[in-house]
Amino acid sequence: MTNVSSRAQRCFAALSLFAAASAFAQPALNVSDRVMLRQVLQAMPKGGDLHNHLSGSVYAEYYLKYAADDGMCLDSVKLAITQCPPPQPAAATLPTTSPIVPAATVFQPYSSLYGEMLDALSMRQFRAGAESGHDHFFNTFGKFSAVSKTHVPEMLTQDVWRLATENVDYLETIFAPDFGSARDLLKVVKPGQSFSEMRTAMMQSGLVPPIITSSRAVIDRAEAYMRDNLHCGTANAQPGCDSTVRYIYELHRGVPLQQLFAEMVVGYELASADPRVAGLNPVMPEDSYISMHDFDDQMAMFAFFHKLYPKIHLSTHAGELVPGLVEPEGLRDHIRDSVMIAHAERIGHGVDLTYEDDAAGLLKTMASRGVAVEVCLTSNDVILGVSGKAHPLRYYLAAGVPVTLATDDPGVSRDDMTNQYMRAVQEQGLDYATLKRLARNSLEYSFAEGESLWSNHDYSKMATACVDTASSTCKTFVAANTKARIELRLEQRLRDFEAAWK
Ligand SMILES: [Zn+2]
Repeated sequence: MTNVSSRAQRCFAALSLFAAASAFAQPALNVSDRVMLRQVLQAMPKGGDLHNHLSGSVYAEYYLKYAADDGMCLDSVKLAITQCPPPQPAAATLPTTSPIVPAATVFQPYSSLYGEMLDALSMRQFRAGAESGHDHFFNTFGKFSAVSKTHVPEMLTQDVWRLATENVDYLETIFAPDFGSARDLLKVVKPGQSFSEMRTAMMQSGLVPPIITSSRAVIDRAEAYMRDNLHCGTANAQPGCDSTVRYIYELHRGVPLQQLFAEMVVGYELASADPRVAGLNPVMPEDSYISMHDFDDQMAMFAFFHKLYPKIHLSTHAGELVPGLVEPEGLRDHIRDSVMIAHAERIGHGVDLTYEDDAAGLLKTMASRGVAVEVCLTSNDVILGVSGKAHPLRYYLAAGVPVTLATDDPGVSRDDMTNQYMRAVQEQGLDYATLKRLARNSLEYSFAEGESLWSNHDYSKMATACVDTASSTCKTFVAANTKARIELRLEQRLRDFEAAWK
């Protein structure tokens, strides 16, 4: 693990003020100097990644390694990681034509399967043909799911370290640490029960507390492994040791309603019990049959739980849609309903904004309520084919809706946070001042606990306790408020970053 930050810093320091300043002042010039732009934006402290799926953040190379280490197999036709067949009697060995091969096969010399598997488990070298980018992207998750649930500590370490090397040191990563055990609650549900009756039955079953305990233990183990493997607290501490990580409980919008309800019971209870679990988010393709068909019922379920758990944060994937992918009616209200009915505090994607009923009114509402949008430029490009002027980013910015840039699934898309900033400059025409605001937004609109460092949202005035950031009052304040602490750290890092090229 090399220290990319210091390498970029050295390169960056060699740049002239004029070159760096003109790159930001005139983004059009930036397009011709990708090398400088990449170095500068990699070195720029970028705050947090608020939309990051843990399993989608891992590079396929690591999934193949996990599979080989575990003695698992690959289906060389379906190009998926799979369990090996049970041991055969000596006389009945596998036929040589079997497509199931040991995963370690891919590491042998001259194996073409290695590259084929990397392509299948990610967007590497993807060219749309019979399979769309949307389908290939979402299909990858099933191809590595046999190992993505059993290597959470290694995955978390990769995710946190990789982001830290590009100066992103706050992370909210989406995953379900109960690994599906919320489904156990379905056995106490009876047909025809109301939301309230279902929840009461589940809560009184005695099944919830052990799920919460085991989920918290999964996070404990992952964090301990990460600290150990990044050598935190030693002279050889790696990037990531100073990062702050929060977890977003992953709900599945493509499953039957009662199962989603059971997941909500676990998710809201887990977030109430463990401050590291900072909120919830429904995942899976928004355009799938169940996601579309059950959308209104799902919103009603969120409204029900919001009344019971008003302090638990919610971000929802909403508007990750384009015309033609769903019926026109499906484009009209997902963002609005997520905000108004489900009480989502942040929206993931929000790509179909211009097709929402009264989009201008929706923008006003989001701006006045401070509902942020997690903009994932690479993801929107490779899944939905939306980029450049077709992306609604500029409408959100013009309306004063808080925006952050996020990676979504950097392992699957084989991209990183720096490239989101690259795209923001080169494709969206954003200047440095706007990028800085987006970086600050990524902490201000995070679900990190505690009060903000800021007393306003244009970041011109700090909280009274931190008018003098070196004062003992401020030190006490940031020690008691995680959000203020990570925001002050970003300010200090931005100051150093900007001083480096002045
Ligand atoms: Zn996502």
